[in-house]
Amino acid sequence: MKKRIVILGAGESGTGAAVLAKLKGFDVFISDKGKIETKYKNVLSQFEIEYEEEKHSDTLISNANEIIKSPGIPDNIPIINKLKKKGIKIISEIEFAGRFSNAKKICVTGSNGKTTTTMLTYHILKNAGFNVGLAGNIGKSFAFQVAHNDFDLYVLEISSFQLDGMFDFKADAAILMNITPDHLDRYNNDFKNYINSKLRIVQNQTSKDVFIYCVDDSVIENELKKKVIKAKQYPFSIKKQFKKEGAYLTNNEITFNIKQKQFKMTLENLALQGKHNIYNSMAAGIAARIFDIRKDTIKESLSNFQNIEHRLEFVGKVHGIEFINDSKATNVNSTWYALESVNNPIIWVVGGIDKGNDYKILKDLVVKKVKAIICLGLDNQKIYNAFADFVETIVETKSAEDAVEEALKLGEKNDTVLLSPACASFDLFNNYEDRGRKFKEAVKKL
Ligand code: ADP
Repeated sequence: MKKRIVILGAGESGTGAAVLAKLKGFDVFISDKGKIETKYKNVLSQFEIEYEEEKHSDTLISNANEIIKSPGIPDNIPIINKLKKKGIKIISEIEFAGRFSNAKKICVTGSNGKTTTTMLTYHILKNAGFNVGLAGNIGKSFAFQVAHNDFDLYVLEISSFQLDGMFDFKADAAILMNITPDHLDRYNNDFKNYINSKLRIVQNQTSKDVFIYCVDDSVIENELKKKVIKAKQYPFSIKKQFKKEGAYLTNNEITFNIKQKQFKMTLENLALQGKHNIYNSMAAGIAARIFDIRKDTIKESLSNFQNIEHRLEFVGKVHGIEFINDSKATNVNSTWYALESVNNPIIWVVGGIDKGNDYKILKDLVVKKVKAIICLGLDNQKIYNAFADFVETIVETKSAEDAVEEALKLGEKNDTVLLSPACASFDLFNNYEDRGRKFKEAVKKL
C-alpha cells in the first residue's frame, strides 16, 4: 500500500508539498479549513490531487501515515491534538522537501531580518553565477521547487513555525539573526519555547557545517553558553571586534574575516542603510564568503542590491515631508530599528493587532524623535497607555487614507512620516502587504 500523506493547509507551502508528494508516488490528500485560492486549486487539479476546503474531515485525515502541517496552522487546535494522540508524525513542508533534495542549504532564521538577509544572500550567489534557488517563506515553496528544479544550492527563509516541524533536516549553513519576543501567542506565552524553536536551526549540524549568528544578541549569546554547537561558528557584531572568524565593525567599516582571509567594506557602500541592515549585510557576506565567492563580487552585490517593498521603503516627499513604508515591521523590535534609522522628527503611524507587545523598549526613541503618533488600528489603548505621557499629539485613524491625511496636516517640512506599525495588520487589512500598498497609494494621491 502506498504511504498516505495528508497535508493541512492549501496555501503556498501546502500546495507545493502536495505536488512534491504526488510526484514522489505517495497517496496524497490536502485539506483546508478555509477557502482554497483559485490559483492553488488549479495546481491541485493539474496534478490530480484530492482536496477538500472549508472543513477538516476526520476520516480522510486521521488515516494518514504522516501529516504535513502548514506553518499558519497552530499546534493546539483539536484536529492536531487528535493526530498527535494517535501518534501520527506531523512535519513541516521544509522537512518533507528536504528529504528529496541533495542541494546545499543556507537557512536563515531570526525574529527580524530573515527576508532581507535571505534575499541579500541569494542576490550575491546569483551574481556570482551559482545555480541557486530562493525559497522558504519567499516566493515559490521549497517543495514545489524541489519537485521541478535542479538547483545546486538554496537560500531558505525559515520561520519558527517551519522549524517546529523540522526533525531530520540539516542546514549546511545556518544563519540566526536575532531572537526577540514574537508570536508568543503560538508558544504558550513562554519566550523560552520560542527560543527553543529558533535554535532548532542548528539541529543535526556537524563539524562540516557552519553557524552564522549575531553575537550582539544577548538571548543568542546566553543560549550558546548552554548549548554544544558542532558546526563551525561565525559570529557577527557591530559592538565588538574579535580575532575569531566572522564579521565586525570598526568605525565606518565592516571587516569580514573568513577562511583566513580578510576584506573590508565601508558602510556608505551598503545598498541597505540603517543599523539592522549592517547585521543583515554582514550575515549575507559571511555566508557568501563561505561559499568561496570573490570579495569583489560580494562588495558589489551588497552595494547594488535593490531594497525590498514594505521594508523601510521610501515612498515619496509631499510638501517637504518624507513618507516611509515599513509595513513589514510587525513587532516592536523591527520598529525599534525603523525609529532608530530615521533622523528627522517622526510622525509615527503605528498599531493593528498587537501580538503581546511590550512598548517599553521604544520609549527612549519615541521621546527623542516622535512628535506625533497616528494610530492605525481598531484597538489603540495600549499605545495610549504607553506613550500618552510623552507624546502630545496622538490621533486615531481606521484607514490608510485617513492616516496619511492626518500625517500631512500634522507634518512640516523635513519631518518623516513613518508607517512602522509594530503590529499585525489583520484588524483593518488583509495582510501587511495590503496595508503597505494602501499607505503608498494614499501618499501618491496627496
Ligand atoms: P522578517 O522576514 O524576519 O520579518 P524582514 O527582512 O522582512 O524580516 O524585515 C522585517 C522588518 O524588520 C522590517 O520592517 C525591517 O525594517 C526590520 N528589520 C530588518 N532587519 C532587521 C534586523 N536585523 N533586526 C531588526 N529589525 C530588522
